[in-house]
Amino acid sequence: MAGVEPTSIDGVLVTHHHSDHSKTALRASKNWGAVLYSNLETAIRMGWEPIVECRTFGALERIVVSDEISLLPIPVPHDDADNVAVIASNGDGRRAAVVTDLGELTADLMRHLSGCSHISIEANYDHDRLMSGPYPEVLKRRISGRGGHLSNAQTGEALSGIVNKNLESVVLCHLSEQNNAPHLAESEVLMSMEERFSGSIGISLQSGPEFSNWLGQSEPERISSL
Ligand SMILES: [Zn+2]
Ligand SMILES: [Zn+2]
Repeated sequence: MAGVEPTSIDGVLVTHHHSDHSKTALRASKNWGAVLYSNLETAIRMGWEPIVECRTFGALERIVVSDEISLLPIPVPHDDADNVAVIASNGDGRRAAVVTDLGELTADLMRHLSGCSHISIEANYDHDRLMSGPYPEVLKRRISGRGGHLSNAQTGEALSGIVNKNLESVVLCHLSEQNNAPHLAESEVLMSMEERFSGSIGISLQSGPEFSNWLGQSEPERISSL
């Protein structure tokens, strides 16, 4: 995590049980002395013992992590997982969202996204690349379906619906190596938001928590991972 001391982390929230989001969470929470948070379904699927190993939360139940930070988990449709998007709020009312692994945006989530200063959101695939690529038909349907992932176009459309002057930065994440490319994701999203967006845009690399900018800016920018 860029610029963050692991031991300064108070809590680790796992959004759902899929291994790309959960694998090292229990170990990390123990190593860092941080509280592990998940909903009950995720805890069961991970084999974590509630209370002893993790603190469970309900949908839309505000989690107070510290004096400054609280988290709001918002259920989103994704495969067989009980997945959540997360809105983090700090003491002065600024909010940041982390949104990955969902087939479509819900009205609840859209309402909470508008007014966020920072949004990390998946732009998983370019629709044409996915459809003309080598994946079997059943997998193409799953990824592009209601329980799959957001395409660049869906993410652009969502951001276009909520962009306002409060939105300072957007990071596109969870890009598919096979079915997407950073310049495609960035250009599609920027095009959707048009000149209404004056903040910074970055792409989260699969290999790590640092963010690079492809088209929008000349200088890569480091942003703390949430
Ligand atoms: Zn997932
Ligand atoms: Zn994932």
